[in-house]
Order: sequence, then C-alpha cells, then structure tokens
Amino acid sequence: MIHIRDILVATKGKLIAGDDDIELKGISIDSRKIKEGDLFIPIIGERFDGHRFIGDAFKFGADAVLSSKEIDISESSGKSIIMVEDTLKALQDISKYFLSKVDIPVVAVTGSTGKTTTKEMIYSVLSQEYRVLKNEGNFNNHIGLPLTLLNIEEEHEMIVLEMGMSNRGEIHLLSKIATPEVGVITNIGICHIESLGSKEEIFNAKMEISNHMDDTCILILNGDDEYLSKVKSIHTRYKKVFTGLNENNDIYVTEIKDLGHKGVAFNIIYKDKDYDFKLNVPGIHNVNNALLAIAVGIHYNIPFSLIKTGLSSFHGNKMRLNIVDTKEEIKIINDCYNANPDSMKAALSVLEKVEAKRRIAVLGDMLELGEYSESCHKEVGRMVFEKNVDILITVGHEAENIVKGAIISGFPKEKTFALADNITAKNIINIIKRTGDAILIKASRGMKMEEIVQYLQERR
Ligand code: ATP
Ligand code: MG
Repeated sequence: MIHIRDILVATKGKLIAGDDDIELKGISIDSRKIKEGDLFIPIIGERFDGHRFIGDAFKFGADAVLSSKEIDISESSGKSIIMVEDTLKALQDISKYFLSKVDIPVVAVTGSTGKTTTKEMIYSVLSQEYRVLKNEGNFNNHIGLPLTLLNIEEEHEMIVLEMGMSNRGEIHLLSKIATPEVGVITNIGICHIESLGSKEEIFNAKMEISNHMDDTCILILNGDDEYLSKVKSIHTRYKKVFTGLNENNDIYVTEIKDLGHKGVAFNIIYKDKDYDFKLNVPGIHNVNNALLAIAVGIHYNIPFSLIKTGLSSFHGNKMRLNIVDTKEEIKIINDCYNANPDSMKAALSVLEKVEAKRRIAVLGDMLELGEYSESCHKEVGRMVFEKNVDILITVGHEAENIVKGAIISGFPKEKTFALADNITAKNIINIIKRTGDAILIKASRGMKMEEIVQYLQERR
C-alpha cells in the first residue's frame, strides 16, 4: 500500500499530528466504510461536508485523515492529520501518484452514448490476455475515476476507464489524472446540450480526451459520426484510427446480421482481410461499440481469435437493453438505465427486430434537453412510427410530445396512451398486455421506470 509520507508528497500537504512513517491499509471517502489502518478523505459535497465525519473516521479505526479545515488535534489521539488546501484535489493527486508508481497503460472511453458498454467490451477483449482494472459501473467522474485508480494492485497490467462529463474542462481534468495512452470516443450526441449550448461544443468537450496525448498515443474514433469524422482531416500529434460501418474507415463492416434478441453477427475488413464476429447483446448500435473494442484489441496485439472470444463473452450491463422472458411469454426489454434521442432510436430498433406478436413501447421523459426537449421528444415519436411499434405508452409531461410526434407522422391515435406516472402505466400495461408481446421500457434515470419492469417481473 502507501505510506503517509507518500500522501504528503502527492498532496503537498502538511502533517500537523501523528507520524509520517505509517503504512496505510486503504483509503476511503466514506467514513462508514473506514477500516482499521485506513486514510479518510473528507469530500465537501452538495449536501454534506465530509469534514463532519472526521471524528467517526477515527472512531472506526482510521490511522490518518486529510482536512482542508481547521481541526482539533486532540481529536486524533495520536493518529495522523494532514492539512491540504482542497481535499477533492488531494484525492485526485493521490490517485495520479498511484498511477505514476506503476507503468501500465490506460485506455479511456468517452462519448455521448455507449461509454459503459464500450468500456465493458474493451475490458472483455483485453482480459483475454491481460489482468485489467476497470471502473465499476458508472464510476466515471472527478471522484469515481480517482477512486478507481486507488484500486490499482500489483497484478494489474492494464486499466480501462470510462470518462463522463457534463461541462467543458471535465474530460480535460480526468485525462490529466489518468493520461490515457489510448483514447476512445463513441459518438457525439446531444446529452448535456443544455449546459454546453451546441453539438460543436459537445464535440470540443469530448476531444479534451486527447489533450495530454503525445505521439506514442492513439485516438480511436467512430468514423461514421458527423463530428468525429472531421478529425480525419486534422493533423494531430497522436495516431488516429477510425472505425464504423462505412468503407472509408480503417476498420469497417461489410455485413451485419441482426439476430434480434439473440444478438448481432457481423464481418469486418481490416488491412484487406476479413474477420467475423458475434455479439450476444442485441442492437446494431452495439456493432459500433464493438468496433472500437476491436481497434483497442488490435492496438495491443490481441489475436483476432481472442478478440472474438472476448466480445462474445460480453453479456450486457444492468438495465441496458436486457431482454427478459416472463411466464406469460412476454418479452420485456429493460432499457431503464437512461435515455437520449440516440439511445431511444437504438432501443426502438431492437424492439423492431425482436420476435413478437405485438410491439409495445413504454417511453418516459428524456431529461436535461432544455430548449431542445420538445423537438427531441417529437423526433422520437417519429421513430416510434417508423420502427413499426404497435402500441405507444408514454410516461411524464415531456414525453407527451412523443405521442404528438408519432401522431403527426401517421401513428394511429387510438393506439397511444400519454400517462402521468409509473403507477398509471403499470395499470394500463396490465390491461393491454397479451402473450407474445414484446415491451420496451425506457426513459431517463430520473423517471425510475425500473419500477414498471420490477412489477411486470414480479408477476412472472
Ligand atoms: P452514461 O452517460 O449514463 O454513463 P453511457 O454513455 O455509459 O451512459 P451506456 O450505459 O453504455 O451509455 O448505454 C446506455 C444506453 O444507450 C443503452 O442501454 C443503449 O440503449 C444505448 N446505446 C449504447 N450504445 C449506443 C450507441 N453506440 N449508439 C446509440 N445508443 C447506444
Ligand atoms: Mg456510463
């Protein structure tokens, strides 16, 4: 592990009590999780100031604490106290220090949609040959990413990290901490357009992933994306690889077979040779995610046979297009994790290809779209019409515009239900569902539509 003197070096902090020769067992920002011999880092959050829990941390056995506020030394009863200017910055500095002590490459993934999925696919591919550390779930921000780096163990040979953002400068900061050797950008959509103002600015924000890259680094981009494809003509100090369904990419797809809920099979061409792959997760959009993972695998010289095994061993993430069969022989497509116009489109394409007698789309509000909200919801309504949905149920105020958009496009009004909340939706679904139906359930995280999934599953 790490000594207190290392923490002093990493944070440029000042030891005001205790001993710097102590070896720490672990580091935590949650006083409730502190164990004997740990370091407690109090973070100042929106609702709580971690400094309030310094006393608890000592009680639970912390050997040391950081603090940016005045602190009563007698509280520490001989344990160490390190004063720093900013505890969050200190956490980031410590994580950077951890990384600097090992010589292992970092692969970082950003983009508007598909980051977690692509990160997990890359993990599956790299794990075929290396011991890989990844961020769990969605630990992708200025706190989650440094916490992940604190988990580096001697056995690790590679790191794959998801980088999330909602504003300019955030990916810059994360890249400064993690200094990726390989950067991956999945696509440029319109999530966070409310805070960033335009797609161009979202593009600029994602490109910050390359801010700390030199000529030994490589940026892997979805070359089918309108904004990312522009990078093809830009001179960069780092290397670039483009992937996509179009022929003008370095790695491109020649054939795709949509196998519905069984997944997708596809062929790629790379350096004039072709290779076939099979994914066990549904949706053509996942081919784009997989291509990025293939490019990472190629970069690290993983043989194609192992890249193939890695990708087929990926079985999806929680609440992201998980297909469950109920006893009543109804297929529930659980995509409640989040929603934006691009992922709505991807999910409706999956619904269209799933074997079913009728296709029901239960779609809730997409949040944080600001002035674009009405037009984006209407656009999803148009997709509902195009993707051959049989019945449309919406939940929430914003989603009423999905119904409007669908009807304007020609969707039959009598097959739409614009509902206020999840409880009403459960009741209506209960009345209309029949054996052989496929039901897609999707909305932004804040809509908690998994309540509907849970209800339908409990009735299995
Ligand atoms: P977050 O910003 O919340 O971290 P994320 O970028 O990590 O999201 P995922 O969690 O991988 O994205 O996927 C969320 C949903 O987006 C999936 O359930 C799926 O519906 C859809 N999706 C995944 N990849 C793509 C893609 N390449 N294009 C469009 N939609 C996608
Ligand atoms: Mg994610």
